[in-house]
Amino acid sequence: MPDMDWLSRHLASLGQIGSLAAGGISRPALSYLEAEARDYIRDLMLECGMTVRLDDATNLFGRLGEPGKPIILTGSHIDTVPQGGKYDGALGVLAALACAKEIGSTDEYPLALEVVAFAGEESSRFGLSLFGSRAYVGALDLGKLPSYVDANGIGVQDALVRLGASIDSLGRPTMEQRPEAFIELHIEQGTLLRDAGVPVGVVTAIAAPTRLHVWIEGRASHSGASLAADRRDALVAAAHVIAEIESLMKREEPWQSVATVGRVRVVPNVINVVPGEVELGIDIRGSDPGSKHRLVREIDKLVARVTARRGLAARRQAVVNEEPVRMDERVVSLVDRAAQEAGVPHTRIISMAGHDSMQLAQFVPTGMIFVRNESGISHNPAEEIARVDVEAGTQVLRSALQKLLTEPFKHEATEKGDQV
Ligand SMILES: [Zn+2]
Repeated sequence: MPDMDWLSRHLASLGQIGSLAAGGISRPALSYLEAEARDYIRDLMLECGMTVRLDDATNLFGRLGEPGKPIILTGSHIDTVPQGGKYDGALGVLAALACAKEIGSTDEYPLALEVVAFAGEESSRFGLSLFGSRAYVGALDLGKLPSYVDANGIGVQDALVRLGASIDSLGRPTMEQRPEAFIELHIEQGTLLRDAGVPVGVVTAIAAPTRLHVWIEGRASHSGASLAADRRDALVAAAHVIAEIESLMKREEPWQSVATVGRVRVVPNVINVVPGEVELGIDIRGSDPGSKHRLVREIDKLVARVTARRGLAARRQAVVNEEPVRMDERVVSLVDRAAQEAGVPHTRIISMAGHDSMQLAQFVPTGMIFVRNESGISHNPAEEIARVDVEAGTQVLRSALQKLLTEPFKHEATEKGDQV
């Protein structure tokens, strides 16, 4: 069993980097604080006897085992949202290191173990999510990269240069060799495990966002002198749209798709002027492509219907449009078996939040282990995991890694393939 005292101690210490007086942690993507956290993780990797490597995207890797062997990759990210909690990302890296520390050496295994701390997973600083894992698999869109800037006008590339990173090869995958499998342990960011009364979730799919900007165009006019019949009030129309989006969401199966109007911009936003224009920011997430596409179509029809009825105009732009990602069934069933053998109650679940695993899954057999979140909320200082659940999750990760290191995954798959 990995050392739980070691894990708790380092979770607490890592949580001090970027900690705020008001509670919570701010370690923005590609910041000096993220770099400080990376130095902390690098020291632990060295303590675990690992060979350390930093790639051009500032992803940090620690390898247990000699070069040339195929690798099993595990880990997560070490940046946070503003005022985030101490588990999101950090737990997946530290639990992986606790497992590596216990494994000690991979000399007796046909595979080596690599632990990764991905950089810049959160989109809160630049509006670009999964930066490090995108760079790792070679999925960064270099043409669009300069458009991602933070609130101070610092771009992704500038931030990397400030950290002393070389940005010349960012368009190419920073992956040195394709791992045989990737497993990411992560705090659950919702309430499914808490509601189900089990400590561990075996993730089968990750929902992906479609984000729409919808502009409803009416006519600004004097709030006193405009009669009801003459008004072209964009905000009243928007209110109908927002309420109706909730009804559309409720028609979908729970956890298949959800839709949120998280941002409203009113023009001119003045108390004595009938609102002339409203911009809505709509985030639609789904694990089921059919359900998600239906919700997007219904929202388009809804906006057209409400605005036509009121004599208003509307236009919309999809700013993000990503497809849901399925985890590799072989990894999913391996994690199931690992949990079973470890005697840890578990259930299969869907992730409604995005993770680095979405990028990896496109190139590497990938699975995720979720650990129950006591508070049910994440991206918040209140996120919390009971120590016994940290232990249960880490035990499942340890058992899954043992299987992957001893039963070479690719061979297992090839053999199956040969039989077919
Ligand atoms: Zn995370």
